[in-house]
Amino acid sequence: MNKNIKNIEISGIRKFFNKMEKYPNAISLTLGQPDFDVPDKIKEGIINALNNGKSKYTPNAGIIELREAISEFLKTLNINYSKDEIMLTVGGSEGLFISMVSLLNAKDSILIPSIAYPAYESIAKLIGVEIITYELNNDFSVNIDNLKEGIKKGGKVLILSYPCNPTGALLSKECKNELIEVIKDNDICVITDEIYASLCFEDNYYSVAQCDEIKDKIIYVSGFSKMFAMPGLRLGYVCCKKELYDQILKVHQYDVSCASSIVQWGALTGLKNCLNDVEYMKKSFKDRMEFVYNELLDIGFEVNKPNGAFYIFPSISKYGMKSEEFCEKLLKEKGVACVPGDAFGVGGEGFLRISYCYSMDELKIALKRLREFVKTIQY
Ligand code: PMP
Repeated sequence: MNKNIKNIEISGIRKFFNKMEKYPNAISLTLGQPDFDVPDKIKEGIINALNNGKSKYTPNAGIIELREAISEFLKTLNINYSKDEIMLTVGGSEGLFISMVSLLNAKDSILIPSIAYPAYESIAKLIGVEIITYELNNDFSVNIDNLKEGIKKGGKVLILSYPCNPTGALLSKECKNELIEVIKDNDICVITDEIYASLCFEDNYYSVAQCDEIKDKIIYVSGFSKMFAMPGLRLGYVCCKKELYDQILKVHQYDVSCASSIVQWGALTGLKNCLNDVEYMKKSFKDRMEFVYNELLDIGFEVNKPNGAFYIFPSISKYGMKSEEFCEKLLKEKGVACVPGDAFGVGGEGFLRISYCYSMDELKIALKRLREFVKTIQY
């Protein structure tokens, strides 16, 4: 057995979701999957592809038509990649994996935010690289001084993750500009995971991938799980400049050969016809966010207002319990499952992640139960 595997565990998100088996009537606010169905035109696109014999391997990088459409779509976010700089992957998950495997040698160090999607840390442990955690500011933005410290300690690859799971934070214009300077000045590469880019609640979207000057140091990872509400169909993509691209493509080839052919055709239909559905879903998530945020404030939580994705990350530190204990009790006593903040790294202790991509009815009941639960806590 590879000894590194012993250093990783099933993610805390799944662990808590699995606990639900014991509480069949509990409401789950654990997973990050939209409650919408895949838009009908995407379904048609997939079925047509299947009926038209599109079940062969595609090129390793994916079908050209979809790579061209992604290139056009990214321009709407002011991000420029040509079709030859885009490869389709089996979800953003594969994209992250092959990017990290391609960039890192066993003796390297990776810079991971103190509160982050758990895959970054687990993949790093699996590869066997050293993890340098950089602490975020209280509003979950990047603390540039902490980041610079991490670079001084030898961090070679930087993980950025905005819009953020689990905090719902976005990258601001100021922070983007500061990051660009840091990236220019240092010998580092960046993996920017922007899988929630389509769920940005502000008018302007900011990403370090918008700066062409530093493009040779950037790997942009994204996908369609969240955008088209199709997490089970497993389609994502990686974009980067040719030098890195050619290396990552080799890992991708030996990993999966190609992403699902028919789902690629479905996503192409989606980019051509379903951007209104994406807008509709975004608006719905924003409404749910406003509801959950206001309820949490009213209950007495300290909480930052999310600007994107579909998660909210209130502090529970004043209630005098560890996040694991808080979540266990909430599930046992009130039948609501949330994910303990420590599932997202050392900085997540003292927080709770609520996924609000569940129906308004479920959210209303869950928030009512959470309110009752908090009333029972002596602090
Ligand atoms: N990055 C982040 C931040 C995520 O939250 C997720 C899924 N929850 C992924 C990547 C991977 O998504 P997928 O593999 O479904 O595209």
